[in-house]
Amino acid sequence: MTQDSFFLGGEWVQAVGRASIPVVNPETEEQVASVPAGTAEDVDAAVAAARAAFPAWSVTPVADRSALLSAAADALEARKEQIARTISTEMGTPFGFSVAVQVGNPVVVLRSFAELLETYSFEQQVKNSLVVREPIGVVGAITPWNYPLHQVVAKVAAALAAGCTVVLKPSEVAPLSAFALAEVFADVGLPAGVFNLVTGLGPVVGEAIAAHPDVDMVSFTGSTAAGRRVSEVASATVKKVSLELGGKSAFVVLDDADLDRAVKVGLANCFLNAGQTCTAWTRMLVPAARQQEVVELVKAGTAKYTVGGPFEDGTRIGPLANAGQLKRVRSYIETAIAEGATLVTGGAEPVRDTGYYVAPTVFADVRPGSTLEQQEVFGPVLAIIPYSDEDEAVAIANGTPYGLAGGVFSADQDRALALARRLRTGMVDINGGRFNPLAPFGGYKQSGNGRELGQHGLEEFLEVKSLQL
Ligand code: NAD
Repeated sequence: MTQDSFFLGGEWVQAVGRASIPVVNPETEEQVASVPAGTAEDVDAAVAAARAAFPAWSVTPVADRSALLSAAADALEARKEQIARTISTEMGTPFGFSVAVQVGNPVVVLRSFAELLETYSFEQQVKNSLVVREPIGVVGAITPWNYPLHQVVAKVAAALAAGCTVVLKPSEVAPLSAFALAEVFADVGLPAGVFNLVTGLGPVVGEAIAAHPDVDMVSFTGSTAAGRRVSEVASATVKKVSLELGGKSAFVVLDDADLDRAVKVGLANCFLNAGQTCTAWTRMLVPAARQQEVVELVKAGTAKYTVGGPFEDGTRIGPLANAGQLKRVRSYIETAIAEGATLVTGGAEPVRDTGYYVAPTVFADVRPGSTLEQQEVFGPVLAIIPYSDEDEAVAIANGTPYGLAGGVFSADQDRALALARRLRTGMVDINGGRFNPLAPFGGYKQSGNGRELGQHGLEEFLEVKSLQL
């Protein structure tokens, strides 16, 4: 599947340059597609198309915007299996997971914004002022590879709902589902220029978007290092920058918890998408006196996470998304061993001759402040950390530069809630509370700023104007 064009101004337009970026299947290590390596000139064309479409789209009746998002959700759902296959092929997630989550979530999110528009009030009277919310303008969206379509839709659906037009640069590692999304938007009749797609490398296309004087806002999801760079580049034009970055989230198991259930929930969260989830609870904080019990349960639980190809029956952990990711995860495992953590299961050894596989790996007695405890691995690697009392658990949980998510498990809901309030993170799940596509999603500290999804996600893309009457 060789793509040689970008979606600009409602048409497929040949890329300016001839360079391309290979897309590699992490199961076979073979190239399966390529996409154009865009240039600053391509970004100029995309931004011009988005700018030209903005005046009309920004005043398109809310009901019409809602209807288009709803139609896009239906069209995406109709292609669910095909797009899921593409995502499993380009980044390795088990096919069933790709259907249910990688494509299922974007369908739900598109619908949620269509529905939100039916009730959301863009105006509010405050004493003698009419406060109106208006679309911020042209939005540059830059996204990662781990949930390639979901990260795109979380931004694009909200921006379009708000009345903004968009230039998207998806991850160069997993760019193919973004092409499918462009086709969906074209099929449902989204006006030309409202959604534009340019692929390419971050330092080239991403920075050209962040620097562009005609882009009003950048919405970025990715690593903290790249987010920092986007902020620097964007600051010259004082545009708004919204960042969803990395994490090192803690799962605090309190001493009254049902350990069996807590471990099941904790492992499912940590190993989801082979650990390539920004919100993954990669640190399991357990009462020191119960660490050994937890270790036994974790060891038995981890054995059930079968590693295999994305299209093989029974696979729960597919290959990591690319060779660089495999190298990075292995190196973190080796560092943890060198720094004295106890290896409970897994390790850095190759799992198969071909494919970017790593075994789900667990360490116990992980020392606060050690590399594994502080840095985001982005692979199926769990650190079990003993604590002596709740204050220490909170201090450890809050003791990294990140603040994205977390979990608390206790037999006493109020006790869990009280502890959750002390965590300096944007999201905390209590006793395995489910993902809510309408709840604000985002982080504190170096996990970013701004929120996605639901009303909070919509409002990121709205300016506020006060009219004094
Ligand atoms: P990445 O930062 O390498 O890349 C993300 C995107 O940014 C890609 O499109 C990339 O091309 C682009 N980019 C890279 N350098 C850039 C630059 N200098 N200027 C502009 N754009 C640039 O991240 P990744 O490896 O694709 O994804 C993994 C990271 O994303 C992890 O750190 C993970 O925690 C984070 N993430 C966060 C969330 C969240 O919502 N908080 C969600 C998913 C992933």
